[in-house]
Amino acid sequence: MSREAFLPCFKCGKALQNAFIESDNQPSEGTEFRTQGHYGSTFWDSFDGEDLVLNVCDRCLREHSDRLGQQKVFLPIRCAGMTGFGHVEVNRFMVAYTGNEDKDSVSVDIEDLGDSEAVGVTYDCARVRWVGDIAERKAELLKEYADES
Ligand SMILES: [Zn+2]
Repeated sequence: MSREAFLPCFKCGKALQNAFIESDNQPSEGTEFRTQGHYGSTFWDSFDGEDLVLNVCDRCLREHSDRLGQQKVFLPIRCAGMTGFGHVEVNRFMVAYTGNEDKDSVSVDIEDLGDSEAVGVTYDCARVRWVGDIAERKAELLKEYADES
């Protein structure tokens, strides 16, 4: 742990400061990338649970955004105007980087919080991931909305 991130920018070599001093590698004005590798790589394809890690500074990402892609992999679950309840996994096509986030989300009624089948059937998705305390959050929202009526 130090003020400086464990790794410099992979592209330009610039040292990066940690966003939080207690972090090992949480670059400020940069992003950490991790992979366990891919079939086809002759450099890194770990089967032992070991990540290859690199940082790229925001300036290098911006300068070479024509080399980036983006892909929506989950839709946040929205309820009562809020997110943070979990997400629904999706596998959309990767596209060239646009800089615009896909704001698509899944809206559920309070009664359906924690009910993967209800959400999965509605959105034809098999994998719904709820936060660990979804039952407590649902109970709080039900109480809050019951108190308002
Ligand atoms: Zn850089």
